[in-house]
Amino acid sequence: MSELTDTCQDLRRRVRDLVAEWDFTPRCDSWASGYDPDFSQELGRRGLLAVTWPKEFGGAEGTNVDRFAVSEELLRAGAPVAAHWVGERQIGPSLLRHGTRELQEEFCPPLARAEYRFALGMSEPDAGSDLAAVRTKAVRDGDSWRVTGRKIWTSGAHRATHLYLLARTSQEEDKHAGLTEFIVSMDSPGITVSPILDLRGEHHFNEVVLEDVHVPGRWVIGDIGAGWPQVVGQLSFERGGPERFLSTYPLLTAVLRANLADDTARRELRALAGRLQVLRRWTLENARAMDAGHTPSTHAAMSKYLGNKFERDVIAWARPLMPRADRSIRALYDQAVAASPASGIRGGAAQVMLSVIAKGKK
Ligand SMILES: Cc1cc2nc3c(=O)[nH]c(=O)nc-3n(C[C@H](O)[C@H](O)[C@H](O)COP(=O)(O)OP(=O)(O)OC[C@H]3O[C@@H](n4cnc5c(N)ncnc54)[C@H](O)[C@@H]3O)c2cc1C
Repeated sequence: MSELTDTCQDLRRRVRDLVAEWDFTPRCDSWASGYDPDFSQELGRRGLLAVTWPKEFGGAEGTNVDRFAVSEELLRAGAPVAAHWVGERQIGPSLLRHGTRELQEEFCPPLARAEYRFALGMSEPDAGSDLAAVRTKAVRDGDSWRVTGRKIWTSGAHRATHLYLLARTSQEEDKHAGLTEFIVSMDSPGITVSPILDLRGEHHFNEVVLEDVHVPGRWVIGDIGAGWPQVVGQLSFERGGPERFLSTYPLLTAVLRANLADDTARRELRALAGRLQVLRRWTLENARAMDAGHTPSTHAAMSKYLGNKFERDVIAWARPLMPRADRSIRALYDQAVAASPASGIRGGAAQVMLSVIAKGKK
């Protein structure tokens, strides 16, 4: 805590105040499945979203460390933040880095108010780990574009107002070339969203089919053909934050508050607490690197890889204590278990993170 500035402590207090006032049931994995657009908009009204963005676009001109403080507090509480998470975490910052002024003016203020909800249209049936293999095609049509293709595992597309889309705009020898980033309105004719249910029958992700979908020319993000380096920068925001190790925190604290930990669990907890501090410090370094203008891709991959492992170990730690747990704690445990297999895959598979780390590649 002492590593955080007075501004961070103030932000933290303001999040705590809102969390204490709001009526919600804490969830594990709340950044992916805790959906409450009213809560997200209240965060926006209180200046707790987009804290790093320029004031003219609805931000507070704070640092990524400030944003870390807000995110950490929300995740620790298991607060329902999924409605704004993708838009605020990576779409706004990406527009601020690469978008035209017109695009920033059109999208950043509504994102800072959580009025727009974004889904990520990156993965395709044959382009997941190998993201540069995307085949969804965007073809020029006068000043606009026409997009045809198929995206898969698109979290929250059924509730999104807009889709971030990675598409191929030219066929080059190097598959990393010829990709371009777009924004697509989910209201556009030609978009079909079909649910993909998870193992518990819950609906979080989807297949999104685009058939000759019109995209205005001004909704290209950055340079045509520069989608690959731009999306790699975006992945640092996606992989390097505290959500990669705090998804199971509400379970951890609920077990402790209910005094369920026996001697063995208390001993094991000391090791977990040490690892939590290391992860926290490491992730704060990602935020500091971003504040210094860097793109900490390798460090972000380490956060994700080690954070996933930590979350799995929290579940294993809690498992023997569950027979004595009440219904609310078991619900947290079930949420953590249900999210666990996917945690090592979403945002990039664990083996791919190892490969990024080993090669130190972008
Ligand atoms: C809960 C969840 C939510 C998601 N949400 C979204 C979303 O909103 N938007 C979106 O675009 N995508 C989303 N995804 C998709 C996710 O990014 C991909 O599933 C992931 O990138 C892996 O791609 P894949 O499923 O095609 O698996 P594959 O690429 O086929 O990989 C399968 C396995 O093969 C191994 N493997 C593959 N390549 C390598 C390699 N180079 N080295 C070593 N091992 C390798 C890994 O073990 C990997 O797990 C989501 C996925 C999940 C599980």
